[in-house]
Amino acid sequence: MTAMATGVALTGLSGAALMHAQEPALLQADRDLTPHQHQLASQELQAFGQPTVRWLEQRGVTIQITDSDAEVGRMLEEYGILHGLDRLEVARRAVEVGAALDRAVSSPEQLERLQTMERLQSEAIELQRQWAEENGLPAVMPMGFGMGGGMIGMLGSQPTRALTPRPARQDEVMKELMSVSQASAQSFKQAAGDWGEQVGFLFSVQSALEQSGASSQADQADFRALLQAANGERLARAQAEGFALVESQVALLPEGPAREAASAHLADLQAHPDKIPLNGLKHGLVAPPVRYLSLGERTVVLSATDSSGFRDIQAKGLHFPAKDAIQVDADQLGHIRVLSHEVGHAIEDQLRESAPDFYRDFQPRLRAAFAKAHQNPTEAASGYGLTDPAEYLAEGVRLQFESPELLSQRDPALAGLTRELLERAETRPVKSPMLDALMLLGGVGLIGAACWLRRTPRPPT
Ligand SMILES: [Zn+2]
Repeated sequence: MTAMATGVALTGLSGAALMHAQEPALLQADRDLTPHQHQLASQELQAFGQPTVRWLEQRGVTIQITDSDAEVGRMLEEYGILHGLDRLEVARRAVEVGAALDRAVSSPEQLERLQTMERLQSEAIELQRQWAEENGLPAVMPMGFGMGGGMIGMLGSQPTRALTPRPARQDEVMKELMSVSQASAQSFKQAAGDWGEQVGFLFSVQSALEQSGASSQADQADFRALLQAANGERLARAQAEGFALVESQVALLPEGPAREAASAHLADLQAHPDKIPLNGLKHGLVAPPVRYLSLGERTVVLSATDSSGFRDIQAKGLHFPAKDAIQVDADQLGHIRVLSHEVGHAIEDQLRESAPDFYRDFQPRLRAAFAKAHQNPTEAASGYGLTDPAEYLAEGVRLQFESPELLSQRDPALAGLTRELLERAETRPVKSPMLDALMLLGGVGLIGAACWLRRTPRPPT
């Protein structure tokens, strides 16, 4: 909160200033921090201990709590990290991916897979029908559009009573279906290349639009054009089939509330074709992996394959080493220790610079521990920590506060390294004669840190 920070500077050594001075200046760069966010973030920072917090403050580290992707976007933009995509380039790629998927969908291998899937689905339906009849159950839904059409269900509530066990063959059929659909998804992923992550999941045009973040009419039209370029005829076919499937399900239902609900759903789909569920696995549909981000006047289009943009926006917290800045999503405060993880990055980064001797000795031991943790990934203290040594250490810092017992038990080497790092951050504050003098005054420590920062801007690392 800026108002409070200014209060400290203006009132000098009053009692209120002394009290406020105990609160982390790290958060003062956040101009729209709410009191609640302030409280949660301060609590998490306090766990590091006052000396570490002060050490980070002195080194000019700042933390911003963000409420939306757009706010993260503005931060990335301010730091010169956010680059928009060339829309023409994206459109060109959409056409390329579309053509590759057209070929994959009509390849002999894929046609054979489809036949197999249809055969297995019919068999599963028949098995289900027989079983339902044996047990005097009424409506049987045809196969859905889930993983290889694995969804067989019954609408309407059934009285609870003992049913005969389902035939074992039914499990076998489902397993075979699963394996054929996986092979199908794999071939689409290969064809779609860097857009492959989006292939095969269950979606509707509406859900794809929502995921794209396109909010203005112009952006929505832009995204629709990309969807059209990438999916073409396949999209229309999938839509017709999806609708017909829901229609046939409604027809199978006996009169009653379940059928009424299903009919209402059908009418809704008729009025809003964007909502029709589509079978991406059968038709090789792809949602362009782009994301629209409104930054006030300007919309930025990011791509999942552009590591400088989309992925950063998806993160829950970020550390910007060159800017000594940390970003944490507001909804991560208080439960998952994203803030501690990012502070862990900041401490490593600051020590690398301020204590090169310490770091020279520390880094090889960190790398060795990381390599060892990698040998036994299932036993790792944190799966995400296996990404690289920096994440390994940041996860160690997080776990040091979240579950120190688990950390010591699973990875004693990391537990030791983390403690060493934190101790070092506490015991070696930045040397600045002016700052030391101001620190003696205690309550004006924050002003001291601010002055020092203004006088000696830090170079990017
Ligand atoms: Zn990290």
